[in-house]
Amino acid sequence: MAMTTGSERARATLAYLRRKITTGEWPVGSRIPIEPELAEQTGVGRSTVREAVRSLASIGMLETLPGRGTFVRSAAPTSTLLNEFLADFTLEEILSYRRALEIEAAQQAAIHRTEEDIAALERAAADEVGCTRCPVLGLASGTDDGAFDSTFHRLVFDSAKNRLLASLYAGINDQLRTPEHRGRLANVATGTEMERDHARVLDAIRRRDFIDAVHAMVNHVDHDVVIVNDQHEVVPPLTRTPEQQQRIDQAQEAQEVREAAEEQTRV
Ligand SMILES: [Zn+2]
Repeated sequence: MAMTTGSERARATLAYLRRKITTGEWPVGSRIPIEPELAEQTGVGRSTVREAVRSLASIGMLETLPGRGTFVRSAAPTSTLLNEFLADFTLEEILSYRRALEIEAAQQAAIHRTEEDIAALERAAADEVGCTRCPVLGLASGTDDGAFDSTFHRLVFDSAKNRLLASLYAGINDQLRTPEHRGRLANVATGTEMERDHARVLDAIRRRDFIDAVHAMVNHVDHDVVIVNDQHEVVPPLTRTPEQQQRIDQAQEAQEVREAAEEQTRV
């Protein structure tokens, strides 16, 4: 490796080790070569190797056991670090960030979805019909952990084909499940609203309409998971002026008229 500065050497060494893990050349559970060997492979000093190993250990990919060696623990950065990072932010900040992820995922899904993705989304939308609440956080079912995951929402992230979006979303949901946040959250969409919303998101993704996909997801997340105050009143995620609300209502009515007309032509 032809390198000049120390920081370049450190970055290249870190990338070299990380690639060994992500490509599976060093499988999870395996012991990695000892420091002098790695120094020889990479052509850098042992202290540079040690630093790179420490970096990968700090994000959960490697673990050094004294006297036994360094082992591969995970092929991807684990969410522990993300959870610790997110703990410093308010629920309002986290929900706003989550909203951005959901919307971006819907748009990317409309662009990158495969036929298999559509089939899986259709199955999930059908399976989740009849739930009284969108089970995205499983709040409606109290302590039932099985309801934590909305397959439909997870599949939208899968269809987006962006691993970073998917892992950030998983990390955010982990954070929302902590007792501190969970008590301040509620699902306000009814079962019927949830079905209709999911159907609209799915329809836009199916048609590869990345603009409709965004609108459909915005419409869903804004009345999906909400923050409630001490008096159990819903704190609106976005405060709208009466004029803005009127425009939203009008657009909603127009959409319903359009859908009713489409229904007619199909019959
Ligand atoms: Zn939903």
